[in-house]
Amino acid sequence: MDFSTLSELYSKLENESSGNKLREILAEFFLSTNKEEPTLLPTLTYLSLGKIAPDYKNSVLGIAEKLLLKAIAKAANKGSKETMTLMQKDGDVGLVAQKLLKVKPMTLVPVAKLTVEELWKTLHKIKSISGNKSQDTKEKILISLFQKTTGSEAKYLARIILQNMRLGVADMTVLDALAIAFTGEKSNKKILERAYNVCPDLAVIASSLVELGLEGIGDIPIKVGRPIRVMLAQRVASLSGVSEKISGELQVEAKYDGERIQIHKDSSGKITLYSRRMEDITYQYPDVQSFLKQEIAKTAQSYILEGEIMALDLEKGGHKNFQTLMKRKRKTEIEKHAKQIPVAIYCFDILLLNEKNLMNESFTVREKALESILKKKDRIRRIEFIKTNEVSEAKAYFDKMIARGEEGVIIKSQGEGSLYKAGARDWNWIKWKKDYNHELVDTFDLVVIGAFYGKGKRSGTYGSLLCATYNHETDTFESISKLGTGLTDKMLEEIPFLLRKHEVDKKPARCNVKKEMTPDLWFEPYLVVEVIAAEITKGGLHTCSMHSVMNKSTGKKEMKGYALRFPRLIQIRADKKPEDGTYSEEIVGIANN
Ligand code: ATP
Repeated sequence: MDFSTLSELYSKLENESSGNKLREILAEFFLSTNKEEPTLLPTLTYLSLGKIAPDYKNSVLGIAEKLLLKAIAKAANKGSKETMTLMQKDGDVGLVAQKLLKVKPMTLVPVAKLTVEELWKTLHKIKSISGNKSQDTKEKILISLFQKTTGSEAKYLARIILQNMRLGVADMTVLDALAIAFTGEKSNKKILERAYNVCPDLAVIASSLVELGLEGIGDIPIKVGRPIRVMLAQRVASLSGVSEKISGELQVEAKYDGERIQIHKDSSGKITLYSRRMEDITYQYPDVQSFLKQEIAKTAQSYILEGEIMALDLEKGGHKNFQTLMKRKRKTEIEKHAKQIPVAIYCFDILLLNEKNLMNESFTVREKALESILKKKDRIRRIEFIKTNEVSEAKAYFDKMIARGEEGVIIKSQGEGSLYKAGARDWNWIKWKKDYNHELVDTFDLVVIGAFYGKGKRSGTYGSLLCATYNHETDTFESISKLGTGLTDKMLEEIPFLLRKHEVDKKPARCNVKKEMTPDLWFEPYLVVEVIAAEITKGGLHTCSMHSVMNKSTGKKEMKGYALRFPRLIQIRADKKPEDGTYSEEIVGIANN
């Protein structure tokens, strides 16, 4: 397939403002690919997003903007001054490439067209290049790639290389499109998503769907070395509400505020650590790898464990805060920081042991398996917990945790149906945090989809942000709040910097916003922020779970959505993807509680 065909797809997606059409365009593309060049389908599930592999395989190309601009200028036979002037004006390497390579560059030897297969191979080659001459080698490869492109092809090629497509599509959109293309029904995405929860690799999902059909897709096994989407907890309005959701004995576990980690060990001894976003973070924790080798029973040949990683205070005992732990998130001086900030893992679940999938076993069975392999419990510890039949005891345990400075508790069911539900926010786990005791309702993780310019003290920067919840049913981002409070001077510097590369010139197709709420700037869903609010209200301004409501005084039906009252920004949540933000469905649940 010529790259120009893929480039046409990008152009259609970029210009589309309807979310449904976006999915149809992708579906059509997958169908025709499967007819004409079926072997390319898995590759194209990723390339359609501008990616070269699933996120968990660390598909980062690591090409700096500067190097890319240099290569584009050389491919186009243009000077660096002209290139930099264009860059200053447009602020987007893609547009610069499009302008500089408006016509095919002159080369001594005629060059063939760029094909998708060649692009795929070359991108993987770039990723594998390291060493002291690597910059030169990469530059040469980039020049030859750009010499094979013109106009918008060059624009999209630059965006693929910088891994910033600005198309507003994500893995969930591809699942929708695969469901439409190969089952004729978008609603079958649910079945594909269940498979994706245990196998977050679109290429595997696409080829399994084509080969095995919908019936076979459920048989994709869990695999050590391929992360599983994490299970999450529900929330209740009051602790007494727990008994309506969980019957029988409760397991009340400490909820520590650290970093969630999923640990995979295969039978050859290879250990891989995944973050909550399913990114491979093994290199950050060499100390954890040796603790695991020393402290987990040798009988555990292979396993998948889950736990919370915490920074330890070895002098005073107890834990250091989340900010201290975040200092371990670095690419250099890793060993030095491992010594300075010692950590422990508090395990709370096990999903696989010696190749046996434990996800469909009850919590009690998984707990026994977990206990059986934790030997020394020095740095690989069990999370603290109590077992009780009484909600009052759960409350007392929660108070004890809060007094000690922990975040709260997670109450877990031990009943028959207490399976590990990958990717689900499930009632078998209920969280109760210290925020819930305040007059403020709760915190929400919202996606920034727009910004309004500031006035007065904030002129020249953002005055407020347009924030959205994620509607998981429809794969859309629905506005819920205009957020101006809590933005510190530091955040007002940091947020525009983070969003600069995600600005788009019109409403992204997957965003659902009323005309009255049109912001000055649009962003593709990227940044997640944690927001606290006093109340959830219903009104006519936002689209969060919008539904028709009878206006009692006029007797007419009106469309109303949920909104947040007195929202205040607390922090940026870099650990969450837009699709990990608060679901619109959750807002409905909390509002009606
Ligand atoms: P928050 O915003 O509170 O961090 P979240 O949306 O990240 O929440 P929740 O469903 O609220 O996720 O809470 C689950 C998180 O709590 C897990 O991702 C994990 O990192 C952490 N955690 C701490 N202790 C436990 C525990 N005992 N069991 C499960 N998760 C725990």
